[in-house]
Amino acid sequence: MSLLKHFVAAPSASILCKIRRLRLHKEFVSKQFKTSSKIKSEPFQSFKGQIVHNFILKNLPDSEREAVFSKMEFVDLPVNTELNETFELIKYGYFLNSGLSSVLNVMLDGKRIEVGLTGKEGFVGLPLAVGFATSSTLTIIQIAATGFRVSTSDLENIFRTCPFLVRSLNRYAQELALQQTQVAACNRLHIVKERLARWLLMSQDRVESSSFLLTQEFLSHMLGTRRASVTVAAGKLQKAGLITYKRGQVHVRSRSKLEQASCECYHRLTRQMETWRNNSH
Ligand SMILES: [Zn+2]
Repeated sequence: MSLLKHFVAAPSASILCKIRRLRLHKEFVSKQFKTSSKIKSEPFQSFKGQIVHNFILKNLPDSEREAVFSKMEFVDLPVNTELNETFELIKYGYFLNSGLSSVLNVMLDGKRIEVGLTGKEGFVGLPLAVGFATSSTLTIIQIAATGFRVSTSDLENIFRTCPFLVRSLNRYAQELALQQTQVAACNRLHIVKERLARWLLMSQDRVESSSFLLTQEFLSHMLGTRRASVTVAAGKLQKAGLITYKRGQVHVRSRSKLEQASCECYHRLTRQMETWRNNSH
């Protein structure tokens, strides 16, 4: 009897295993949350009254700052602004300062699918950094943004005298390529609800706000699925108390639960980018 009591009172091996797995998952999620918050950094300078948030501009060395900043123009970028068009000449490079742009692959029948995201951590117009004049993708503003733009001809001159900037852009090209390879696998292997959670986390990291405006049309491009599937997935996340989604306004209610709801892709992306940033030379 006492032996039976012992078995009833003590957690079974499988329960212990589950508890351990849960604890490890919590530690992992908490570590990832810290990781994503590490991307954030305080603005340290301004340009013509605008605080510079763009990661690449903020990290320019003194020796290159003047050459770049003297050619910059601050611009407001409303939703749907096309920063570069597929196979067209690139007119400007953009250092986004707020908001979010989406890199889209456009098919011959007009269907679009998102293959990458660029916010204030990056630069739009990467082919220019290696002397290419056009882009194979369309980059469009999906969350109202601001940015510093520089003409293609000015950039060509800047690149000749700013090796640190060129290196930063090449590094960012690697980060964007990483996103694209992960998103390609994600779109094929993971369910819409997990992909939506992953996308919301990636967007929140870049806009640093728990609320943003987002149409279902955009969401269906982002996730490469029908609007009806997006509605169902958003409904599931909303029902579970992770987000609210009303009239195009998304509000993230529980960041930690959203991280748990996401597929592995978000965690892999943030972990790899953190590794690169911490172990670069
Ligand atoms: Zn995924």
